[in-house]
Amino acid sequence: MKLIYTHENVMLVHSAKNILESYNIESVFKNEHSAPSGPNLGINNIFQELWLVRDEDYLRAREIIERELINPEPKAAWVCPQCKEENAGSFDFCWSCQTAKPS
Ligand SMILES: [Zn+2]
Repeated sequence: MKLIYTHENVMLVHSAKNILESYNIESVFKNEHSAPSGPNLGINNIFQELWLVRDEDYLRAREIIERELINPEPKAAWVCPQCKEENAGSFDFCWSCQTAKPS
């Protein structure tokens, strides 16, 4: 097994697992190698680790994590086809009229 991702924010590690799962890459959580990350950090700052089940997934998994989690491309703003309002790229529905973002 290979370590693919670790972060003190458990939510990010869970996101990494979900992203990899969407690409059919199996991974498991471990934290047996956690070390205190600083003298002033408490129990909530233990690093969670995400390990790949299959080593051969490593390069692809690394590339996916970097693309989707570490350097996500900013989503482009879009103009609502219904009311012509501009919406932030992260919105899936128009803020003004709730029309779904066109695909
Ligand atoms: Zn709209």
